[in-house]
Amino acid sequence: MNTIYILSLKESARGRRYVHRAGCPLCPPKGYCVPLGHFDSPGEAMENGHIKGFHPEACPFCCSGYRKRENERNMREMVFSEATGSELILFTPEIFIPVAYIN
Ligand SMILES: [Zn+2]
Repeated sequence: MNTIYILSLKESARGRRYVHRAGCPLCPPKGYCVPLGHFDSPGEAMENGHIKGFHPEACPFCCSGYRKRENERNMREMVFSEATGSELILFTPEIFIPVAYIN
């Protein structure tokens, strides 16, 4: 609970608002941002932002480490998660296709 996080009031091109750490050079000036409070990580600050009805996104400049960790976690989930439903049904052709065996 030692870092102050700030929410930008201006929406990005994707309709999201950036969460910055206090002191970020990309943080908008006063009047264009709202302090969220003290948090341990950008994730906690963004959960708070969600509660307030915004769609926050971590600033790529001051929260790059957080974004990298989140991307790696999401990629790991995509790669190692077990397939569900129709993904489990593997298609095996029962017709012999000679073309596939010609070099
Ligand atoms: Zn920032």
